[in-house]
Order: sequence, then structure tokens, then C-alpha cells
Amino acid sequence: MYGAIEAGGTKFICAMGTGPHDLETIEIPTTTTVATIDAVIDFFRPRLSELAAVGIASFGPIDLNPDSWTYGYITSTPKDGWRNFDIAGAVRKSLDLPVGFDTDVNGAALGEARWGAARGLSDFVYLTVGTGIGGGAIVNGRLLHGLVHPEMGHIRVPHDRGRDPFDGICPFHGDCLEGLASGPAIEKRWGVRAPDLDPAHPGIALEAEYLALGLANWVCTLSPQRIVLGGGVMKHAILFPMIRRRLLDLLHDYVQAREITECIDQYVVPALLGGRAGVLGGLALAEEAAGVSV
Ligand code: ZN
Repeated sequence: MYGAIEAGGTKFICAMGTGPHDLETIEIPTTTTVATIDAVIDFFRPRLSELAAVGIASFGPIDLNPDSWTYGYITSTPKDGWRNFDIAGAVRKSLDLPVGFDTDVNGAALGEARWGAARGLSDFVYLTVGTGIGGGAIVNGRLLHGLVHPEMGHIRVPHDRGRDPFDGICPFHGDCLEGLASGPAIEKRWGVRAPDLDPAHPGIALEAEYLALGLANWVCTLSPQRIVLGGGVMKHAILFPMIRRRLLDLLHDYVQAREITECIDQYVVPALLGGRAGVLGGLALAEEAAGVSV
């Protein structure tokens, strides 16, 4: 059995189990580091002897470089009291178990690979479109980390100010993909909360345009076998056919793979794990930390 922690800025979700079918789960509000981690440890302690490892899928930014002295830390977060906090170390010291550690988005990608929409694939992209936009990539069967970790939400996409004069809301870049197409960007531009947008609203077509532009970039750079889209904005199911159609237009038959040219409906697909992607990602990280290959 494994332990899983989805560490979020407003709540922690903790779980014990072996997979989606047998998870025992609790939610803990994110308060101070000490009170929150104490509550997490209290949840695991009664069944500690049954756990092989714990995985943490954490909000960030976090340090994932194993050679860094701040590996396992939440680093430059604006969240009060959590800056430069050794979250992986705190859990490891209290439970004395192997600890897997990654970003919440990478965790969710791993969860989709293990139990969700990307089972059996060695290369895919997982993108969540909600309060922010974040992406994780599995490349050659492993999560892509690189120098720090990918920041797929902050790529630049063409911004036609004639069609869309909105400046974007990313505090760093203005009109990067997240600045133009995250849930808060939709709300700021149209004055309507993203979930309440009517399917016929022009904001839906604009959203599909920006996401298709992002996807075209990842098809050309990472050559994924599939792209999995999750997050609150993607609950607008109508986005999927619009994104697929626009992606085909943008690629213009250049990438010759029947998965794209003939089977686009199975190429750009909804995430399957929904709100449990993060915590199941934690479970998958725990499996990795325990040395189980899946
Ligand atoms: Zn940005």
C-alpha cells in the first residue's frame, strides 16, 4: 500500500491505497506548515507499517534537482509561510519512508499514464486548463524535467489583437498562453466565469484557437502519441471537437501520422481522473519511489 499527498495552496488531499478503486482519502485545509504537516502525518501514522512509500504532488514552484541542497523544497511561492519549506524532507523525517516528489501537474500526468487516458503510452502531453495552465510531458516513458520543469502554460502563442484586444493577465508575460486562455483570463476578458460561458459565446471559439495553437507547438516539439486535456475549463466538452479541427488546420498535413490525420478524436482526449488526478499522481509517485516499475 502507498501513501499519496496532493499539496495545494488551499487544501491538502491525502490518501492511502493501491489505486483508484481502494483509496481512503481525507482533505486538510492548508494553514501553517507545522499544523498542516502534523495533520498529514496523523492521517498516515495509524497504518504506517503497511505503507511502502509516500508520494507528494505539490504546488510550486518546487526544487526538483536531486543535486540541489533545496531539493524537495517549495521555493519562491507567494503563499505566506510556505516559502523555502522542505516539504519532502518534513514528510520523510516524520514517516521514515521513501518519498516521491514532483509538481502537481507532473503528478497528474503520471496518474493519467498509470490509470487514466494515457495508459500504455511512452510519449504524451497532459495539459490542465483551469485557474492556470500547466502541462506535463512523458517522454520515452519518463516524466520530462529538464533544467527545472516545463512551464507549458507560459509559451507564447500568436495574439491577433484585431480579433482579441485583451492584454492577458499573466503577471510575468501578459499575453502568454496562460495569460490569454486560463479560466481567470476568460473571466476578465468577458466578465463571465469560465464555467458559465455559453457554448455559443465567441469566447469558446477563441479559447479553442489558443489551445490548438499551444497543442500544435507540442506536437511539433515533443511528438506526443496523445494529448490529454483536463482542468475546469475543459468541462466545456464542445471545446474538444473545435480544438481537434483547428489543430488539423494548423498542422496542415505536415506531421504524417495516422494517429493525427485519421484518428484525431483519439489523439486529443479528455483526462479521465478528474479531480482525483493529483492525488492519484501522488500515488504513482509513491510507486516510483518504492522502485516499482509499472
Ligand atoms: Zn506567463
